[in-house]
Amino acid sequence: MARVLIIGCGGVANVAIRKCCQVSEVFTEICIASRTVSKCEALAEKLRPTTSTVITTAKVDADNVDELVALINSYKPELVMNIALPYQDLTIMDACLICGVNYMDTANYEPENIDDPEWRAVYDKRCKEEGFSAYFDYTWQWAYKKKFEDAGLTALLGSGFDPGVTQAYCAYALKHEFDRIDTIDILDCNGGDHGYPFATNFNPEINLREVSAPGSYWENGKWVEIPAMSIKREYDFEEVGMKDMYLLHHEEIESLAKNIPDVKRIRFFMTFGQSYLTHMNCLENVGMLSTTPIMYEGREIVPIQFLKALLPDPASLGPRTKGKTNIGCIFTGVKDGKEKTYYIYNVCDHQECYKEVESQAISYTTGVPAMCGALMLLTGKWNKAGVYTVEEFDPDPYIEALDKYGLPHRESHDPVLVD
Ligand code: NDP
Repeated sequence: MARVLIIGCGGVANVAIRKCCQVSEVFTEICIASRTVSKCEALAEKLRPTTSTVITTAKVDADNVDELVALINSYKPELVMNIALPYQDLTIMDACLICGVNYMDTANYEPENIDDPEWRAVYDKRCKEEGFSAYFDYTWQWAYKKKFEDAGLTALLGSGFDPGVTQAYCAYALKHEFDRIDTIDILDCNGGDHGYPFATNFNPEINLREVSAPGSYWENGKWVEIPAMSIKREYDFEEVGMKDMYLLHHEEIESLAKNIPDVKRIRFFMTFGQSYLTHMNCLENVGMLSTTPIMYEGREIVPIQFLKALLPDPASLGPRTKGKTNIGCIFTGVKDGKEKTYYIYNVCDHQECYKEVESQAISYTTGVPAMCGALMLLTGKWNKAGVYTVEEFDPDPYIEALDKYGLPHRESHDPVLVD
């Protein structure tokens, strides 16, 4: 039925691609294109005997719009799935507009070089006006709204778990459980253990940038920013147990604050063990998390990229990781004039994921929603022209697809709240 170009062949893409091949009646043809084409070819070779999806591969530098345009024009897909890095969001959106093709991704734009003076000027202004200092924000991609509308194309932003499923959970709560949502707490718990003293579960550069940045939350119509890891809570997660969790800035807060009417507070918490935090603090203190190039023995290196080369490849954690993830949203609000609470979440088992797709649950919980988002666009269930985040669409068919393809939701009408 549809031909899809998938850009990127890392941890998340590996899961999304395998999932697309499980739904070969919709994903009849896919092209896996990435910087290192040998990885695409290796995966394609492995999957061809298992699926009727016709798989081809291509080499592309997704930072280069001309290369992207040439590839899209020759393959002629109905949809481009960007599962490379957030650095490529804008170039891929540009190429989709030029070629007249729908677009989707799993994370919002951030620049690779945060010292670029042109980007920095816009960033500094936004920090002052908005009050949060994350390097990523939606404004860059929201700026494409009119262009996508005029072209009659859809861009779906952030269809992973968080962002992604968490926003569908919010839309679902608003549609079925509440007349008004007052507070949202998004809780992201990874109870997995990979046995290494320190490793990141997805791209180390993106992951470490995110967790070493100041935290922030939305309250009474504005951002409140706090020093990194300075708000800590404990929570007893179903099938995982008691964990420490820390308040982080997270991208879906920005769109939810716009799209959930009258919401008073939105917070995001992620669990971290003490060993992870101690390693991260130490690496940060010695400058290893810096993205600013330095000269080393006559050669320019970027410290965080060097660190990435030393750390275990997230894709290699799959066979070693045991335990479960538990990610979801707790709401307070009002229904039929009465105050109520509601918790909707998913529990995912690292080893079960590995058995199914040879990958741990972090990539799984992102790759499955990426496929489900694509499914919504390709089957016409989500089809308005413009640039949208997940909560702006009907959550029901998406949650139904997640239930069916590996991430079933659970719910509680009497959850323990986070203070
Ligand atoms: P990886 O680093 O494992 O994979 C990235 C892939 O993109 C690699 O195949 C890489 O190629 C390719 N790539 C990088 N730069 C280019 C380029 N210029 N041109 C073409 N291909 C390129 O990352 P992950 O799979 O862990 O993450 C993928 C995305 O998912 C990221 O945007 C991440 O932020 C997002 N994510 C979202 C989550 C969510 O819940 N919403 C959770 C986790 C991740 P090469 O092999 O050559 O390096």
